[in-house]
Amino acid sequence: MYRIIDGKAHSAKLRAEIKLRAEKYFERTGRRVGLAVVLVGNDPASQVYVRNKIKACEEAGIKSFANYLPEDATQSQVEEVVSGLVRDESINGILVQLPLPAQLDEKRILDLIPVEKDVDGFSEQNIGRLCLNQESLVACTPNGVMQMLKEEGIELRGKNAVVIGRSNIVGKPMAMLLLNSDATVTVCHSKTQNLKDICSRADILVAAIGRAKFVTAGMVKQGAVVVDVGINRNEDGKLCGDVDFENVKDKCSYITPVPGGVGPMTITMLLYNTVCAAERS
Ligand code: NAP
Repeated sequence: MYRIIDGKAHSAKLRAEIKLRAEKYFERTGRRVGLAVVLVGNDPASQVYVRNKIKACEEAGIKSFANYLPEDATQSQVEEVVSGLVRDESINGILVQLPLPAQLDEKRILDLIPVEKDVDGFSEQNIGRLCLNQESLVACTPNGVMQMLKEEGIELRGKNAVVIGRSNIVGKPMAMLLLNSDATVTVCHSKTQNLKDICSRADILVAAIGRAKFVTAGMVKQGAVVVDVGINRNEDGKLCGDVDFENVKDKCSYITPVPGGVGPMTITMLLYNTVCAAERS
């Protein structure tokens, strides 16, 4: 019988802890933990993400600073805003909502954020630290996966872990986190040969592909832990993951649903990183 990893429940538990830590920080310093969000342009999905992040901050007792710039903002305008946030001591974390409009140099903007305020964990330094297994601010989605695996008491040491997807924001940091937890890790991508064989040997299978119902029962080992990072729309416009849940679930020991699995943890880990950044400052 499989067990569902309930991302909403894990998220609620961690948010309560984050709120307490934010209160303690306030008692100690007289300042609220502060997160600055920079949104450039009118992308509707980005607007929803930013709204959700601001709401989550409020609920956790974290002060949010929203910075909205127009779609045609210039490189120097955005850099000026970000540099101001870097200097502002009341801000512990800075998040630039991606993607940025095409006229902007994303790397140059992200490079302005110092490692200690990089709560997305996307900076070269934070990624380098993760690779060296040093304390770092870790990308929120893979870190949320690790948090759920830990809370569920799932042993990783010596296990075969397979990550499908090698993006800089999910697949690669996910693989590194699993490796740092002593799993034996294989990373697959669109050029991987014998994908099905590799996946079907996985004790832990993480799908971060962006293709609806890509992972089917034939790719899953009996008793595997299956983590579905994907967020897709099926033919009826309904939200679905990269894993064909109904087809796969009976082979799993644990499985994350979509929605309600990895998704809820992502914003929670942003709050977590922001509180950690404040405590270290
Ligand atoms: P991405 O940058 O598009 O990367 C997708 C990865 O999947 C790439 O490495 C790609 O390989 C690989 N891939 C594509 N087709 C494949 C195939 N047929 N076989 C094997 N590998 C294949 O996407 P991402 O940003 O990592 O996101 C992945 C999914 O997670 C998306 O659905 C996204 O919406 C979702 N997501 C969810 C959250 C959350 O909070 N739950 C957060 C972030 C992302 P190549 O490198 O060879 O192209």
